Amino acid sequence: MEGANCKRCGRPLKLAHSVEVGYGPTCRKKHDEAEAEFLKRQITIEEYAEFAEKAVGR
Ligand SMILES: [Zn+2]
Repeated sequence: MEGANCKRCGRPLKLAHSVEVGYGPTCRKKHDEAEAEFLKRQITIEEYAEFAEKAVGR
């Protein structure tokens, strides 16, 4: 994984760990936060779908 760039901002990654993760430290944090938010909403959508199914009766 030589010459890897951050998937978020495109900057070259210098730390081996960052290359492994695919993001710089700052972008990794932001990415995790965005993902956590997305997962939260995904659960909400699933719950909503379940509710909608029951409402329809099938
Ligand atoms: Zn970045």
